[in-house]
Amino acid sequence: MQIDKKDIRSLSKEQLRDFFVSQGDKAFRGNQVYEWLWSKGAHSFEDMSNLSLATREMLDANFVINHIKVDSMQVSTDGTIKNGVKLHDGLIVESVLIPTETRTTACVSSQVGCSLDCEFCATARLKRMRNLNPDEIYDQVLTIDQQSRQNHGHPLSNIVFMGMGEPLMNYNNVQKAIEKITSEEGLGMSPKRITVSTSGLPKMIKKLADDGVKFKLAVSLHSAIEETRNRIMPFTKNFPLTELRESLQYWYSKTKSRVTYEYVIWKGINDDKASVDALVKFCKYVPCKVNLIEYNPIDDGEFQQADERATNSYIAALEKNDITVVVRRSRGKDIDAACGQLANKS
Ligand code: SAH
Repeated sequence: MQIDKKDIRSLSKEQLRDFFVSQGDKAFRGNQVYEWLWSKGAHSFEDMSNLSLATREMLDANFVINHIKVDSMQVSTDGTIKNGVKLHDGLIVESVLIPTETRTTACVSSQVGCSLDCEFCATARLKRMRNLNPDEIYDQVLTIDQQSRQNHGHPLSNIVFMGMGEPLMNYNNVQKAIEKITSEEGLGMSPKRITVSTSGLPKMIKKLADDGVKFKLAVSLHSAIEETRNRIMPFTKNFPLTELRESLQYWYSKTKSRVTYEYVIWKGINDDKASVDALVKFCKYVPCKVNLIEYNPIDDGEFQQADERATNSYIAALEKNDITVVVRRSRGKDIDAACGQLANKS
C-alpha cells in the first residue's frame, strides 16, 4: 500500500528535533537535517552526506521533499536564464536570473498565472490557477542562487517579485518565503535587497506598512491618469488613484522607504504631455523613483513602445522636478524572459 508521505519541509526545526528524539536519536540530528533542507537546498535524503545510511533510509521511509524541479532552461545572449520550474502537482511557473556587471537578480513568481487583467501582460492571459506556497517561492530563489554561483562565481545579490502573479494577492506565503530567505537559517539575505512589485492594491499596501515589512515596494503605475490606467489595467476600476496615493502616503509615513514606480511608455496611450504632467504630479505625493521600463511585445500590436522623444520628455520633466528616473533596458527578450513575457510561449 502506498502511504502519502508528509513533506518534511512542513516541519519546523523544533518539530524535526522532536521527531529525531521520538526515533531514539539525538535532537541535534534535527538541526543537521534542517540545514540540509533550507540553507543547502537538498533535493533528496541521499544528498545529506553527513547522515548515516540508516538515517537517510529512515527519513526516506517517512517523508518526501517536494522540491521544485527545473523542467526547462533557456539562456539568452545577454546571460539571462529563464527557468521553467515544475511544481509537485505538475504545474509550471517561470523564474529568471538576470546578471548585470554589478549584481545578479532573481525575478521570481508568486502565483501560477494571475487573476489581474493588465492588457499588456502575457501572464494575465493565463487564469490564476493557484498561489505558490512559501517553499515553492523559496526554492526558486535558492535555484537561482545556485545558478548564480555556478555561472557567475558569486551568490545572488537581489530578488524582485516581478515574475508571474500578483504577490500581494498571495501575501502570507510571500511573507513567509521572505522570512526564510532573510533568516540566517535560510539564505541570510538583507530584506533591503528584496523588492515586491505590486499592481497597486491599496489595502494590502497599508497592511505591509502596518506589518513593518523591511523589503522595498514597487508599484506598477503606467499611468497617473485614472481613465488611461483603467483602460490598460481594467481591475484598477476598483482601486482609484486617490486610494492608491493615500496608501502610499501611509506606507511612507510608516516605513520611510521610497517607492519605485514602474512605468512603460506606449505609443498613443501615455506618450502625451498630459500623461507626463500627471506622472510628475503623482510623484510629488510620496518620495519616489521612477523606473521607465522598455515594453516587451507580447504579440498583438495594440501596445507599442513609444519613440525615444516621448521617453526623453518624461526624463526631462521628471529631472526638472528633482525626481529620480532610471531607464531600464530589457534583458532576456530573445527568450521571452523579460517583464510581462512570462508564459508567452508555454
Ligand atoms: N503583478 C505584479 C508583478 C508582476 S509584473 C505587478 O504588477 O507589479 C512585473 C512588472 O512587469 C510590472 O511592472 C508590470 O506592469 C510589467 N509588465 C507587464 N507586462 C509587461 C510588458 N509586456 N512589457 C514590459 N513590462 C511589463
